[in-house]
Amino acid sequence: MCAAVGSGEVIILSDEDDEAEADASVLLVEVEHKDKNNERALPGSDEDLVVTFSRRADLLPHARYDCPIQPFMATECEISAPVHNNKLICEQCFCYICDKLASQCESWSSSGVCHCNSHKRSTFWNNLRNNTLLGGLQSFNLTLCEIDSHLRHAESLLCMFKAELSQMFSAYLNGKPAQEYGLKLQGNVHDYTPVFDCVSSFLTLAEKQDSRAGAIMQLGAAEAFVRHYSASGTFVPLLPMANAFAARTALINRVISFLQRQIVTCEFTLEFSHKLQEFYKTLSFPAPLKALKNSLCVRAWEDVLLGSVLRGQNVCGFRKDKGKRTCWWSRCRWCNSGRSGCSSRAGTGSCVDISEWCRPTTPKFSSSCWT
Ligand SMILES: [Zn+2]
Ligand SMILES: [Zn+2]
Repeated sequence: MCAAVGSGEVIILSDEDDEAEADASVLLVEVEHKDKNNERALPGSDEDLVVTFSRRADLLPHARYDCPIQPFMATECEISAPVHNNKLICEQCFCYICDKLASQCESWSSSGVCHCNSHKRSTFWNNLRNNTLLGGLQSFNLTLCEIDSHLRHAESLLCMFKAELSQMFSAYLNGKPAQEYGLKLQGNVHDYTPVFDCVSSFLTLAEKQDSRAGAIMQLGAAEAFVRHYSASGTFVPLLPMANAFAARTALINRVISFLQRQIVTCEFTLEFSHKLQEFYKTLSFPAPLKALKNSLCVRAWEDVLLGSVLRGQNVCGFRKDKGKRTCWWSRCRWCNSGRSGCSSRAGTGSCVDISEWCRPTTPKFSSSCWT
């Protein structure tokens, strides 16, 4: 076994156990340059292990605070100016905040925002790094380890979509003069249809993406359009999606169906599904749509409790695992009641909507309320 400990020195460790030879088990030898590739020849030795040559390790990319060449001085949140020699870099130093070569960081030593003092043992710098690298994905509580190119692409698409949607919604609120619709009346016409079409196109685009990226896009879009409200205008055309409330209801149901399918069929890890569900719960549902707030709380097909209930092995809907009690409970979407209230007795709780996806394989739920 051997290891380089500094320029010109190599430690040779013998595998000899004899204590009498313990003094000789580590031998420091001077190395000499063998050729221009920095290979070093070692003198012959009578030891069991002989190092014939060694070479200085290649310098790998590293964060500035880990630089083996330029010393770093850590501070908690100094951004006004470079501390000590933190501004100095080697050619492999990376900016901890931007995640790119320090030589390419535009804020490396700028007063007030300088990144050269950043390091991973500071809450301040860690938060700044997350804000910079996660961008809009931070609201989904995702970590940098979960982010891939698909999700980054999804974020940029979502960003453009929100800007476009904002303009279209403003146009809807302003309305158009009734004369433009051929009406000989005073007042404005408020037609939500263009907004609906804009969201629909984006949801279609999301469905064609990588599954995780698609889910993020759908939820991000829902967050934007679910806040919309009806314009207090004079006229609404008699078109299916001209009414903002009807259009939003159709759109959110589309998002719910898409995400339920993905979660149930286990396209995501449990952790990622949980993050989607938690984000969905934070959406600002208007009062008429409040009933949809728990619609993403579905269980995957592989869920142990769900499997035992569907196979008829568990008729109570409860399960105890390591002392923790899990309840399978669903609210009937027709009568909106739980296990005790639903006349069909099929409902079993508050957080699992089985009415859509278990119907084909669970005839026992096909009573009046659940069909
Ligand atoms: Zn370096
Ligand atoms: Zn930077």
